[in-house]
Amino acid sequence: MTEEDFKNRFSTDIECRLYFSEVKWDGKFICKNCGSNERWENRGNYRCKGCRTIHYATAGTMLNQSNINLKKWFEIIWYIANSNWEERLTAGKIKNKFNLGSNKTAIELINKIHKAMENIENYKLSGDIIAYFGYIKWTNTIPDFKNGFRIFLALEYDGRQRIKLKNFSSLIKEDKLINDNIDPGRNLSIIKYNDNSKFYYTLMGVGILIGNKNELLSILINNLGKYLKNLSKSLIDKKGLYTEFTFRYNHKDKDNFQIFSELLSEFVKNQNLYN
Ligand SMILES: [Zn+2]
Repeated sequence: MTEEDFKNRFSTDIECRLYFSEVKWDGKFICKNCGSNERWENRGNYRCKGCRTIHYATAGTMLNQSNINLKKWFEIIWYIANSNWEERLTAGKIKNKFNLGSNKTAIELINKIHKAMENIENYKLSGDIIAYFGYIKWTNTIPDFKNGFRIFLALEYDGRQRIKLKNFSSLIKEDKLINDNIDPGRNLSIIKYNDNSKFYYTLMGVGILIGNKNELLSILINNLGKYLKNLSKSLIDKKGLYTEFTFRYNHKDKDNFQIFSELLSEFVKNQNLYN
């Protein structure tokens, strides 16, 4: 979908609400008050024909009582669906680009987006997998990362090319990461690096195993390298970095409206799922 198509399709808050209502009810409207499945539309919200209750589009969803109006949410999600590897989400960037009132609002927004991405990526890899345990040590001294940090990277490479990328503390057992992220019964190789080799070079090691010309590898190495450089500049929210990288990588072949819809579908879900 082009930028212009999107702007025309969602040019008002009401159009966005109506779309949100449609995604939320998915054609299966039932009034909680009276059980009727008939409704009118009311400024993008649904109004029950049985008891006339208005069912607000965002009520009960993750965007319930958001400080940001729905049209702006749509614009931000659309921006994310179209952004490239180097456009990491940062509170400052989002705040300026979308004229959000405060840093607090921007941070809350980014947390919600990361949570939605995490939920979408909450499945286990299957098939042929290489799981890599490594350690990143910075050459420059960065206060919060004095000792570097441990990283888990699992690559599914038999056609689907999906990844799981996480950093983890020494309190977490490697077995748990394997069990949480990879289906049992898969074809799994595990590679461990316990020295302080730079991550870039250890990734090259993984690359040799998979084959250097593999598209997966070039994307991983080129882009993860950029991500990690950015990390040294902004240390806030390192968990979000992995979440974003994983989401972007696993969605690299999808079109912009597909990505937009997937994210939006997470936001219509019951807000309690996010607490
Ligand atoms: Zn009703």
